Amino acid sequence: MKYDYSPTIEFLLDWYGQNARILPWRENPKPYYVWISEIMLQQTRVEAVKAYFERFINALPDISSLADVEEEKLLKLWEGLGYYNRVRNLQKTARILVSEYDGKLPKDYTKLLTLPGIGSYTAGAIASIAFHIAEPAVDGNVLRVMMRVSGSFDDITEAKVKKSLEEDLRAVMPKDRPGDFNQAVMELGATVCIPVGRPLCNKCPLMHLCQAFKNRTEDKIPVKKEKKPRKIQERTVFLLESGGRYVLNKREKKGLLAGMMEFPGVDEKLSPLMAEEYLTGLGYAIEGFIPLGEAKHIFSHVEWHMTGYLVHVREIVAEDSRSYRKDKEESKTVPVWALKREIEEIYSLPSAFDYYRKFIV
Ligand code: SF4
Repeated sequence: MKYDYSPTIEFLLDWYGQNARILPWRENPKPYYVWISEIMLQQTRVEAVKAYFERFINALPDISSLADVEEEKLLKLWEGLGYYNRVRNLQKTARILVSEYDGKLPKDYTKLLTLPGIGSYTAGAIASIAFHIAEPAVDGNVLRVMMRVSGSFDDITEAKVKKSLEEDLRAVMPKDRPGDFNQAVMELGATVCIPVGRPLCNKCPLMHLCQAFKNRTEDKIPVKKEKKPRKIQERTVFLLESGGRYVLNKREKKGLLAGMMEFPGVDEKLSPLMAEEYLTGLGYAIEGFIPLGEAKHIFSHVEWHMTGYLVHVREIVAEDSRSYRKDKEESKTVPVWALKREIEEIYSLPSAFDYYRKFIV
């Protein structure tokens, strides 16, 4: 064992008993609820997740409804959360659970790890919270808290550091309350031993055990290797409108925003003149052309720097499909011309397009 975390247990459990926030998935920690909430929490703050969670669970109350739902509706339910591969993995896993596990999440950490989208953190969270199995769930919050407690200057972006912490925690996990222990550390990391700004050490139940507090190194721990700067991708976005309908395309099945709907565009910034020439070249008869300004969207490894245009075209010149369909002969997708109402209610547009979406009337 690299570090003995056993002295933290009683203080963490006591503190959690008094400070745990009331959350819908904690009130009723069904395996399905724990799974969905943990996937949502990987990208969004607890307070924001509550509303998404309620909406998702109301629409898809169990694993079989998640397995059966059509993709467009599933993506719509995930709209606003981003990272759409996560919700696709939820559905893939739900289908495996229906076909191989009698529609239930397995009560087994190792089997959970084999399911799409479930890594050691999520497997540990489901195993410990829903099934009371003594497995750790190490996320960024837990890494930060425990590196500070042990005073470690190990680089937390290295997989071996996370693995070593998992091993240390597995050795001391309280068998009677493993889920509470994991949630206590996560909660402490989210509310007291915070990632940005000074941690609130005078409110921390681990202050007397914490090496970083003792050595005044809490602002130097955790150590994180600098990330590579994000790639800048320039882009022009078109809101092509005809008779109150707007063009949406489906993106390629691979790569950024794979398979998602988008406003059509090109991977370069076009001036108004170049943009008009480009669209005319595609066969659009332009009746009105309004620059919409610049916008930026940040993905994990890429930044889109966009410019956009609202373009009124005389008539729908692309294949006129009033609803999205696949061209059977050519096996390629064709654009959909959608009303504002349809964009709001049916199609899921990634938040990368939020700035331009508000120009739709
Ligand atoms: S004492 Fe401060 S640095 Fe140490 S675990 Fe608590 S909040 Fe974090």
